[in-house]
Amino acid sequence: MVGAIHGNEPVTRPLAEAISATPLPDHVSITILPTANPDGWARNQRRNAHGVDLNRNFPWRWSPSDGGPGPASAPETQAMMRTARQGNFDLALWIHQPLGYVAPIPGCPPHLADAWLSEVGDRRRLGIDQHGGGETWCARIAGVPSMLIEVATWTANPGLIEQHRRGFAACLAALR
Ligand SMILES: [Zn+2]
Repeated sequence: MVGAIHGNEPVTRPLAEAISATPLPDHVSITILPTANPDGWARNQRRNAHGVDLNRNFPWRWSPSDGGPGPASAPETQAMMRTARQGNFDLALWIHQPLGYVAPIPGCPPHLADAWLSEVGDRRRLGIDQHGGGETWCARIAGVPSMLIEVATWTANPGLIEQHRRGFAACLAALR
């Protein structure tokens, strides 16, 4: 699970932290990167300190228009790629805000999004194919089923965080 790949999305880190407190079955483990963009988080800005939008920097349909100086040029991107490739993961979750949807990236079993949506009032979004996007690279190149969660808020709200934490728990149950 990746939080704060965009440093100006303040709900993503507390949500990742809330999810980390969810009791897990014995056979399940979760790897959490609560602040994938620590420079941006410190400055409350979308991009990292070098001005790179990390979620346009992945080597999937990379574009020089907004992807940084080259595909996977940022050390943060490289760290996320290494983690995705080494983890033998069943599912990758990418937390954003504030658009209010749950998006199974093509290849992700749709019932996992259904489970998450059973606890939150957001819409489902299908067919995301984001150039340079971590979630799309993860699904298409790393072969890890991937889901993007867009929390429907700009400001942290304990009730909303708890809804999404329950959404995670429902998704986890559906994954078994
Ligand atoms: Zn974002």
